[in-house]
Amino acid sequence: MPIDFELSAGSQISLEHYNKIAREQMRPISRKYDLEEHTLPTEWVDYWWSEGRKGPQDKGAFQNDGFVTVCLQAEELCWGDAGLYLRMPTPALGGSAVSAAGTKEQRSKFMNAFREEGGHPIWGAMAITEPNAGSDSAAIETTADYDEATGEYVLNGTKIFCTAGEGAATVDGGFVVVWATIDKSAGRGGIKSFVVPANTPGMELIGCEKKLGIRASDTATLRFEDCRVPAENLLGSSEVKKKDPKKSGANPKDKGFKGAMATFDASRPIVAAMATGIGRAALDFLKEELERQGVEIRYDAPPRELTAIERDVIEMEAELRAARLLTWRAAWMMNSGKPNNLEASMAKAKAGLAVTKITQKAVQLLGPVGYSKKLLVEKWMRDAKINDIYEGTQQINQLIVARRILDYPSAMLR
Ligand SMILES: Cc1cc2nc3c(=O)[nH]c(=O)nc-3n(C[C@H](O)[C@H](O)[C@H](O)COP(=O)(O)OP(=O)(O)OC[C@H]3O[C@@H](n4cnc5c(N)ncnc54)[C@H](O)[C@@H]3O)c2cc1C
Repeated sequence: MPIDFELSAGSQISLEHYNKIAREQMRPISRKYDLEEHTLPTEWVDYWWSEGRKGPQDKGAFQNDGFVTVCLQAEELCWGDAGLYLRMPTPALGGSAVSAAGTKEQRSKFMNAFREEGGHPIWGAMAITEPNAGSDSAAIETTADYDEATGEYVLNGTKIFCTAGEGAATVDGGFVVVWATIDKSAGRGGIKSFVVPANTPGMELIGCEKKLGIRASDTATLRFEDCRVPAENLLGSSEVKKKDPKKSGANPKDKGFKGAMATFDASRPIVAAMATGIGRAALDFLKEELERQGVEIRYDAPPRELTAIERDVIEMEAELRAARLLTWRAAWMMNSGKPNNLEASMAKAKAGLAVTKITQKAVQLLGPVGYSKKLLVEKWMRDAKINDIYEGTQQINQLIVARRILDYPSAMLR
């Protein structure tokens, strides 16, 4: 079977367009918002809302590659700055959840505001993680009790580490997708996701994390106290499928938990692309610096003749390319409607580890100047690490890959 790695003309145009944005809009303010954590990067947010989100205007009739193009955009913009990328006014993970588990009506109800011209910047977010539930998302304790008298769900619980949570919870027009259980006795079957519009009474922003990297991104703690949302804000079915004791894992007929988990099949390739962007930023800079110093990388020299630096750079390049190809494959499968749970986790696990190795090596090879805040390389090293933690840690994604390859249910491999 022939394999076509050629990007379509539309993707090529997008790639150049987002690279220009990364160079001209993001890089110049990258250090500023790394230092000024918790300050809204107004110039970037306003630019994205008024201009950036329109995409390339000169694309004409050229087709892009759908979800692969989304990953290209993530790579280019994170080459610019990953923290600013995460602070863009977009539906983000909240949007992925609505797309994965919501109905057509819900998609237009909650997502249209992000497409409308004018207005003010708004954000979407997804809140799964809690003080006692992270990797094991089925252990979440936030409850959603149905109030028959009003036809509303009443949410109670605390969510932590919610990316874009500050904007999504407090700026009218945005929303947070909150995972909660409607029936604890049903385990995973009882877990559903709910769209909580910004400023809904009972949803409170407690504060934002101080972080190692991606410091331009707001990572919020949100408390829900008798927070009421209409029943129509439940994504997917309200039916609770009790777990078959002979089986483990998500009940395939349960759209609620399964739908929510499907969010990750879309979001993990994007995180892998983000990681690739940060890794490429460090590698590009390293190669330019080596060139300035007169060091040539001989890609075609026999291995026994390579210097240590050449070997390191070639290895970094290979890691990056492998991560990118896995990412594009997972994205392409998503595009084609093929189940990509295995490939999404493979891409995320590979890219998360590759970017931490590549950025650390870049700091190492540049020596003390690489460690200095005069350059952005130390920042990229700090920004890299999160890609191996959120959207499923390295270990969790490896576990998913093993389960899928071996066809083991989660109870047999945990
Ligand atoms: C900056 C940032 C942004 C985030 N954004 C969001 C967001 O937008 N929404 C959201 O819901 N969450 C978000 N998170 C949370 C993130 O997804 C979780 O931190 C992550 O899933 C890990 O969960 P945990 O923190 O409970 O760690 P734990 O699950 O306690 O993991 C601790 C360690 O144990 C390992 N471990 C756990 N279980 C296993 C196992 N079965 N086998 C092997 N090793 C295991 C993990 O790999 C990890 O190394 C964010 C986190 C950060 C830091």
